[in-house]
Amino acid sequence: MEAAAGERATALAESGVKRGDRRMAERRLLLDTCCGPCAMVARECLDAGGRTVHYLFYNPNVHPYREYRMRLEAFETLMRDAGAEYTVLAYEPEEWLRAVAYREESRCEFCYRLRLRRAADFALEEGMEALSTTLFASPYQDHELLQLLGSSVARSRGLEFVVWDGREVYREVLMLARDRGMYTQPYCGCLFSERERYDRTLRERMKDGGGR
Ligand code: SF4
Repeated sequence: MEAAAGERATALAESGVKRGDRRMAERRLLLDTCCGPCAMVARECLDAGGRTVHYLFYNPNVHPYREYRMRLEAFETLMRDAGAEYTVLAYEPEEWLRAVAYREESRCEFCYRLRLRRAADFALEEGMEALSTTLFASPYQDHELLQLLGSSVARSRGLEFVVWDGREVYREVLMLARDRGMYTQPYCGCLFSERERYDRTLRERMKDGGGR
C-alpha cells in the first residue's frame, strides 16, 4: 500500500508534478534521505520520538544522471522491502548548480541548505511536525554544520529538528547493504566529489578547505 503510494509519487515527481499523499498528516517526521545505505543506518539509529518516518528523496547534487538513477533504484527497493512511506521529488541538478556557483570551496554548506530547505518546505506542506536527515549517518559529513543549518531551517518553519548520529554503525551497515546486493556509492554525489575520488592531491586539499 505504502510502496504503491511511493511509486505513484515517483511518477508524478518525475513528470514534474509535485506530489503529495494527503494521508500523511500528523505525527510524522520527514527524513531527508541521500541514499539507501544511509536510510538503513537511520533505521538503526534515528529516534523519531514515536512518529512515523516519511523518507524524502531529493538529491539534485548527484551527478551524473546514471549515478542518480542507481541511488534512486537502491532507495526505492529498500523502501518497498521495508514497506516504508516515501516520496521522490523531481531531479533538479540546475537548482544545485545555481546554489553552489561561485561558492565551490564552501559548496557543502550550500548543498546542505538547499536540500534541507526543500525537505522542510515539503514537511510543512504535508503537515508533518519534525525534520531530520540521513546525512547524520555518515562520518564524511559535517555534523556540526548540519545541526546548525537544520535547526535554523526547521525553526523558521515551526518544525522540530531531530539530531542523531549513525557514525558508529555506518561501516557495519554499509557491509550489510553490500551483502544484500544494494548499490553503495563510491563518492558523496557532486561532480567535485567524484573528481576527489580519483585525485589524491585534491582530496587532501579539500580535507583542509571544504568539501566532503
Ligand atoms: S561533496 Fe557532497 S555535500 Fe558537498 S557539495 Fe558535493 S554532494 Fe554536496
